[in-house]
Amino acid sequence: MGAHGPPRQASPPPANAEPAHADVQDVVQRWDSVRDRVPPGQLPDGAGAIRELHRMDRDNRVLNVERTPSGARANFEPESDRIQIQPPRRAGAGTEAVFHEAIHAEQHRRYPNWAEVRSAAAAQHDNLELQIAAGKWMAWAEYWAYRQSYEFHQLQSPDPTAGPNAAHEYAIAQQGVRHHLAGLASVGVQYDPNTPSPPIYRVRRNGRRSEVESGESDLLT
Ligand SMILES: [Zn+2]
Repeated sequence: MGAHGPPRQASPPPANAEPAHADVQDVVQRWDSVRDRVPPGQLPDGAGAIRELHRMDRDNRVLNVERTPSGARANFEPESDRIQIQPPRRAGAGTEAVFHEAIHAEQHRRYPNWAEVRSAAAAQHDNLELQIAAGKWMAWAEYWAYRQSYEFHQLQSPDPTAGPNAAHEYAIAQQGVRHHLAGLASVGVQYDPNTPSPPIYRVRRNGRRSEVESGESDLLT
């Protein structure tokens, strides 16, 4: 996590939260069974996501909860450094959710500025520049989380009819990605999240306001 900027408030762990060791183990075993045959260019965050998962699991930071704070089926909350998942309703649902959220944990580790931009944007809804910066981050992060989840699934249970762009087509069609792209388009910003790195912004304090500036990614990652 970045050391600068005010963190958004972390919600306390729910009283009935249970460490989701079994779900984590399932993801790790599935990863171990495919890791040696990941095609070049696929799953760039896979190994890092599994490392984050091990770290968080050791500290009981991957939890089964009755309700996630975001209302989604699963949620990585950077402020508390926790993955929270609703107990899966069908076999394998927990695995997909945990892997997707572990990708987000790895994205936050690689790009700590993301949390800072998100916090600032949440505090300043009228700051269009900040909203655009946060919107691009979110679109990029969701696109790659869905894309790599698809690639992970394909390695375990290949769909022989999938074309060479299937992972991209799957990810770009997800509501969680389209929602952010539509928000950007509504203010005239066309953004393509299919780039290896996200646009990098840093937040600069200007009195009580925050401003964003773009930075060189190699300085910040
Ligand atoms: Zn996500």
